[in-house]
Amino acid sequence: MSWLHVYEDFDDLSEAEKIQLFEAIKDTLFPEQRLKVDKVAEEVRDSRFSSGLACVHCGSKTVKRNGKYRSRQRYLCKDCGKTFNDLTSSPLAGTHYPDKWLKFIEYMLDGMTLPKIANRLHIHVSTAFYWRHKVLYALRSLGHDALNGIVESDETFFLESHKGRRRVTFRKPRKRGGVAKKRGIRKEQVCVLVAMDRNGDIVSQNAGNVRITAVEIDAVLGTRLAPGSLLCKDSAKNYVAFAKMKGLHHEVITVHKGVYVRKGIYHVQHVNAYHRRLKKWMERFQGVATKYLDNYLFWFRFLERYKEITPYEAKRSILRNMSKRACGVTVGYLRAV
Ligand SMILES: [Zn+2]
Repeated sequence: MSWLHVYEDFDDLSEAEKIQLFEAIKDTLFPEQRLKVDKVAEEVRDSRFSSGLACVHCGSKTVKRNGKYRSRQRYLCKDCGKTFNDLTSSPLAGTHYPDKWLKFIEYMLDGMTLPKIANRLHIHVSTAFYWRHKVLYALRSLGHDALNGIVESDETFFLESHKGRRRVTFRKPRKRGGVAKKRGIRKEQVCVLVAMDRNGDIVSQNAGNVRITAVEIDAVLGTRLAPGSLLCKDSAKNYVAFAKMKGLHHEVITVHKGVYVRKGIYHVQHVNAYHRRLKKWMERFQGVATKYLDNYLFWFRFLERYKEITPYEAKRSILRNMSKRACGVTVGYLRAV
């Protein structure tokens, strides 16, 4: 049988089948793709135990080797009595297809939609959904950095969404994102606070509904501003109150009066540009459920901060980061959120 004979029927396949066949051939021809999973498992182990072997459940260092299961080393914690392996609580744990994870993250970085990813990887769309949130919760668990020096801060608004919730009783369900009923800031909008310093460190979080108060700003930014930071913000009263409350140096940028830059360096243009990119990026999800909004904010923040590195590095970095702390997100947990 010649290869031409096989290739003859190629055009009879659907687009999706063509890609599946291509992926299958690639997997067969280049099996080293599979081997990389072991390499990643090694990296996960090195990263999570970088300061010594410790229990992933309770942190205790009194841990002993406890045989192998499916060729993976198991450990037993003498303090809490639980066992774990190199991958327990990492994103690679508890999935039957660890090799698909690398591809999954790659596709996620490419901004591919869930149905498309599911199709390519032969997984169910709901599996793809849980995986995405597993990645996002793990990124989120790493938290925000402290901001230093000149800090720009401003708010942007997203439509509140109960997408995915079974019953929406107080209004008709909105399809595909939708638009607010009236212009301006209304109750159905969620306020996202974005603050960033000039080193590119970013805090981005759902701060509350509609116009947020100084107390709500404090809840997001209060502990994340390094001493001596200088806050650049617009003239909104809530910020003035917040700056006073914290005794912060601040520069007021009265954009609505046409002042965009003060003294050459004080402005909120980086944060406003960030808002624009964030909005554009969020469009692809056609309305994100408000309960997941922070996850997506962390995801975008990750993409922004890792712009300069190669996709391969980004992928490894995600897996390493995800494995540093235990990530106990399970299907049950996500359902309960
Ligand atoms: Zn323990």
